Amino acid sequence: MGLIVQKFGGTSVGSIDRILNVAECVKEEIERGNQVVVVVSAMGKTTDQLVNMAKELSTQPNKREMDMLLTTGEQVTISLLSIALNEKGLEAVSYTGWQAGIVTEPIHGNARIAKINTEAIKEQLQLGKIVVVAGFQGVTDTGEITTLGRGGSDTTAVALAAALKADKCDIYTDVTGVFTTDPRYVKTARKLLSVSYDEMLELANLGAGVLHPRAVEFAKNYHVRLEVRSSMEKISGTVIEEEATMEQNLVVRGIAFENEITKVTVLGLTNSLTSLSTIFTTLAQNHINVDIIIQNTTESGTANLSFSIQTDDWIETLNVLELNKGELGYEQLDAENKLAKVSIVGSGMISNPGVAAKMFAVLAENNIQVKMVSTSEIKVSAVVEEKNMHKAVEVLHEAFELSKVTN
Ligand code: ADP
Ligand code: ASP
Ligand code: MG
Repeated sequence: MGLIVQKFGGTSVGSIDRILNVAECVKEEIERGNQVVVVVSAMGKTTDQLVNMAKELSTQPNKREMDMLLTTGEQVTISLLSIALNEKGLEAVSYTGWQAGIVTEPIHGNARIAKINTEAIKEQLQLGKIVVVAGFQGVTDTGEITTLGRGGSDTTAVALAAALKADKCDIYTDVTGVFTTDPRYVKTARKLLSVSYDEMLELANLGAGVLHPRAVEFAKNYHVRLEVRSSMEKISGTVIEEEATMEQNLVVRGIAFENEITKVTVLGLTNSLTSLSTIFTTLAQNHINVDIIIQNTTESGTANLSFSIQTDDWIETLNVLELNKGELGYEQLDAENKLAKVSIVGSGMISNPGVAAKMFAVLAENNIQVKMVSTSEIKVSAVVEEKNMHKAVEVLHEAFELSKVTN
């Protein structure tokens, strides 16, 4: 007998009919002789609706109260699914994150899981029950309710699979697997049979919303066998594993993209020796995440610095820099909004030079200006104007022959 963790996302539990479908899916796993822990998200767009209600009351709602509010979404689904399972003659028990022993660091809105006390779940499994756990939520050492960040139910599932040493973690969603790029935007996107942990981690961090980045981190660190698959179609999905099979020797395996990026430029930094550390320490103290950084020295000996941030943070960033102008010592500040980041990802890049060159050539041929660049061993990211984002993804998808993937 094996232990399987199944996770069902918002669309997959979006109505009573869908919950019945999920119950059937769980039943099939039980009939295969396995023990099952199920992790579920809030129904459909519930989390968005709860966020919007709070925003009607306040532009900056208290983060503790937001966690209290958002965790109610998942609580509805765990009870409904348990009731549906009971009706099918299966014994199921629903657990909130805190009942399931999911302990997080004391941060509201985006907490990391610190440890999982698995005794309660194990006890229920021993009794032959299916345990249905609310995704996306946990509790601090002092009993405060927290959430794991949007999309965090994936992380609940993979972390539970790691802690329980499950044989497999299946992420059931509204697509049939991980595609070469988001199939909602690119019609020629193709499903991949497998992706390596490292490639998936890059794709998730660079905007491919199909998996929460921390879920991939857990899977990689604890060697969890992970599969992304459809909750509606009974076909195999995409396996995320150590070494993905090289499908048709693809150098680039996927393209991720995200918008709402802002480029901030600080001109005329007078003390180039210390100003970099002062600027980024000041931003970090204000919890502003900086992504790509470019610095160059001018002939007069001053330095110009550009960096990218999420557009959500741009007003705060400029305020922080202006407040500290005296200490930082610069001449002028500039910000460019409405930018996007398009990234190509693939382990094959390590041994294939010229991938970045090809990317820039393709973008140039299509009159898409590149504003910033960043690379790692297995990815190249280009910041472009938001209006060019989908075009850039499409032409790169064609150029790297991703629409030709067959499986
Ligand atoms: P769930 O509610 O099941 O967690 P999500 O909406 O979080 O579902 O994730 C699934 C969505 O991820 C898909 O509908 C798709 O639009 C998007 N997505 C983005 N990039 C990819 C990709 N490379 N492959 C598959 N889906 C992707
Ligand atoms: N319900 C949460 C969200 O919409 C968590 C999740 O679905 O993973 O972000
Ligand atoms: Mg999700």
